[in-house]
Amino acid sequence: MPAISPYPGLEPWMWRSLLARAAVFHATRTRLSQFCDHIDKGGAVELVLRHLELQAREWATCDVDDDTAVTRVVEAWVAQLTETLGLRQLDPTARQLIEDMRDLLHCVHSHDPFRRIFTGITAHASALYGDSWRTPTLGVAHIRRHPRGDSTRSDPYVVTAMTPWPPDIAEAVVELYIHHDDLYIHHDDFGPAAFAALPILLTHECVCHVPARQDRASNESTFAEGLLDWVAYVFHEQWAGKLDVELAPAARRHAEVLRTVLSRRTDTAEGRARRIGHEAAETLRSWFEVSCGHGPHESKLAVAQLGVQLNQVDRSLADKDHFVSLLGWPLPPALEEVLYGWDEGRAPASAVLDLVVDRELVGHAGRTA
Ligand SMILES: [Zn+2]
Repeated sequence: MPAISPYPGLEPWMWRSLLARAAVFHATRTRLSQFCDHIDKGGAVELVLRHLELQAREWATCDVDDDTAVTRVVEAWVAQLTETLGLRQLDPTARQLIEDMRDLLHCVHSHDPFRRIFTGITAHASALYGDSWRTPTLGVAHIRRHPRGDSTRSDPYVVTAMTPWPPDIAEAVVELYIHHDDLYIHHDDFGPAAFAALPILLTHECVCHVPARQDRASNESTFAEGLLDWVAYVFHEQWAGKLDVELAPAARRHAEVLRTVLSRRTDTAEGRARRIGHEAAETLRSWFEVSCGHGPHESKLAVAQLGVQLNQVDRSLADKDHFVSLLGWPLPPALEEVLYGWDEGRAPASAVLDLVVDRELVGHAGRTA
């Protein structure tokens, strides 16, 4: 049967082409980091990735079901890997990697890899947010340009995600966008690095946006895209092993690389918001260490907990961004008082926001977002 896309935003051939590669990346997930390292160096490993793309494209439009298409792509790729292993001039580490990947391809299946990752993350996020959680539906679609307009050589993360606003009272949609360039027929560069970054991208949506109680999150929000993004990283770190112990090393590594890629964009509002919000979160973390005597890890969790609670308070994003702007060293004394109260369980998170609208306190702000 011809391909049928489960996502209205993906043409059937595109769905199947992504599915075949994602199925291979999933099966070889314990070797994804080395795979990426070798791709960066070029040579035989980069060529086998291109061959995988060609085969995925080849079988994307064939009149067979998904299972058969994935099986055929894998068979063709195994043959290519075997041929590559026959080369006399092959770097020994590349040879080992290709052998390992070929062995792992004995077990490939065609379950929707995007939904599998998403479902695991939503289970954790739902437990974290409790009653404030909205049930999200996953959409997958393509975008015509790279999320940051870069080349995939310098930025292989050709995926991005968003949660359209406003969500329903109890439900939300998370859209995953994968870059596809019409200039190159059927070309999208969805490789192992982009696959390994899916968990952090979807964790960001589920921690920062799905349960948010505030007005529309703008890209410039130092709270929604900055401090809460830092919090998303804390939970990604905690959840990665439970989500998929075999993918966890690559997922953690690529989450960190993506963090660097996104934070170096000081020329965009989103990049600035992220940098300022992350810095504010680190300042608050240090404050918990110095002022409350918590250890570094406990302090990190305190910031994450406060972020999660503030995200559930139905207040304007401007108030929440203002709170972030107050997190410069030294913290305003009135803010310290409220934070002591919150840490000792005497004050709710909303007290922090009640305080930041105080005019007098505004004058104490060390810096603004
Ligand atoms: Zn966001």
